[in-house]
Amino acid sequence: MKFISTRGRSQVDCAATAIAKGLADDGGLFVPQSFPTISMDDITKMTEMDYAERACFVLHKYLEEYDYEDLLTACKNSYSKFEDNDGAPLVKIDDKRFIMELFHGPTLAFKDVALTLLPYLLRKGCDLSGIKEEVLILVATSGDTGKAALEGFKDAKGIKVMVFFPSEGVSDMQKMQMTTQEGDNVNVVAVEGNFDDCQTAVKKIFTSKEIASDLLKKGIVLSSANSMNFGRLAPQITYYFSAYADLLSSGEIKPNDKVNFVVPTGNFGNILAGYYAKQMGLPIDKLVCASNSNNVLTEFFANGTYDANREFFKTVSPSMDILISSNLERLVFELSNRDFELTDKRMAELKETGKYSLKDDEKKKLDADFFADYCDEEECLQTIGEVFDEYGYVLDTHTAVAYDVAMNFIDYTKNQKPVVILSTASPYKFAHDVLRAINGNAPTDAFKCAYKLNEQTANPIPYQISQLKTKEKRFNKVINKNDTVSAVMEFIEQ
Ligand SMILES: *Cc1c(COP(=O)(O)O)cnc(C)c1O
Repeated sequence: MKFISTRGRSQVDCAATAIAKGLADDGGLFVPQSFPTISMDDITKMTEMDYAERACFVLHKYLEEYDYEDLLTACKNSYSKFEDNDGAPLVKIDDKRFIMELFHGPTLAFKDVALTLLPYLLRKGCDLSGIKEEVLILVATSGDTGKAALEGFKDAKGIKVMVFFPSEGVSDMQKMQMTTQEGDNVNVVAVEGNFDDCQTAVKKIFTSKEIASDLLKKGIVLSSANSMNFGRLAPQITYYFSAYADLLSSGEIKPNDKVNFVVPTGNFGNILAGYYAKQMGLPIDKLVCASNSNNVLTEFFANGTYDANREFFKTVSPSMDILISSNLERLVFELSNRDFELTDKRMAELKETGKYSLKDDEKKKLDADFFADYCDEEECLQTIGEVFDEYGYVLDTHTAVAYDVAMNFIDYTKNQKPVVILSTASPYKFAHDVLRAINGNAPTDAFKCAYKLNEQTANPIPYQISQLKTKEKRFNKVINKNDTVSAVMEFIEQ
């Protein structure tokens, strides 16, 4: 299957090359030339499959050039790193509401679902596209992608990973997870600024022809593990199908019944995967985009104008503290009926003025598929407390944003169909704020918070957290956002 760039001046022959390259040469994002479909018969068959088999089945619709059995082995390998070999177990809250827990992987965030598999997809992608150079992965992270990429790629042959995170923009646990990372091929640097500063700096490196040619002379090509890379996006499509198959198995729905998904959103990768699942035939009623106080997307869905000229808030759901949602470009491209020129013009506008607007017919299409709302800091903590009191279920701060918005969605639209809320992180990653929400106050020490949270809720502490305490800190560097290029050069020289 061919992959084309959203900006129209670049295309590749297959998914393997799109994944190996990460970003298109023209600065756009790779999208499949057309959406493959999965029939209700096939979805019904998925009820008999385990998670790895479901993943392979969905992925191979795009990754046609990958050997099926080889891909299946890789999927089994990846999802064996999850509790019960399941990437996306579904928990029933009440008659109509379900929580899909995507955080039972190695780093306790949903990013693991894709990043445990990406090293295979990328290495194989390079092989299939004849790329012999060493691959340097650059990652800008709001906290969770960085750790998941480091863990996924550590000691991977022929691949180096460098992660940039905002020095004051991640939780203590997230910071410790990254700065104690093991592996000889990894590097972690804090950048003074917020996530958007990190992302912009990394994007600049990706689109610089000069840097690319400097690196190539040293036998290195760049790639990305952010959700701009189709290899990150594709594995996320699986769990929408998987949740539907689970609802079928448990008799909660009948074939062809429609289901809603509520997604705590930052860079728009997770929810875009849901939109792709819908294009492939999954009966999704509404995709609900849940934001925190950085509600640039809520406004975009309300009035059709994306305007990033606004105050940036540091919130208790830091992985969603984003004003420029990169993957929105893929959605806007579809809304425009795949108009390359218009997409290119809008992205230039976004860069120059910080905003762009949809046309009326595009806005109508948006309304047909999506509902959007946001949840402020107080509502977020209140939701965690209430849900624990009522159901004994412990939400993390990101999932709480989605939960609160799910309630607004049901109240406001009177939608009667099942609602699946995507849970994106373990509450222990954000133990301080979760404990504060449940207990009224919390100590400053992150581990004390974890122990106390465990005491109060009887929710078990994951070994990934308890083990962190004794790990040695390996990375201390804090740099200015203008020094990212020299940091990269320094890393590859060592
Ligand atoms: C990354 C992340 C999000 C946001 O996902 P996007 O794909 O960037 O929209 C939400 N919650 C958590 C815990 C995350 O790590």
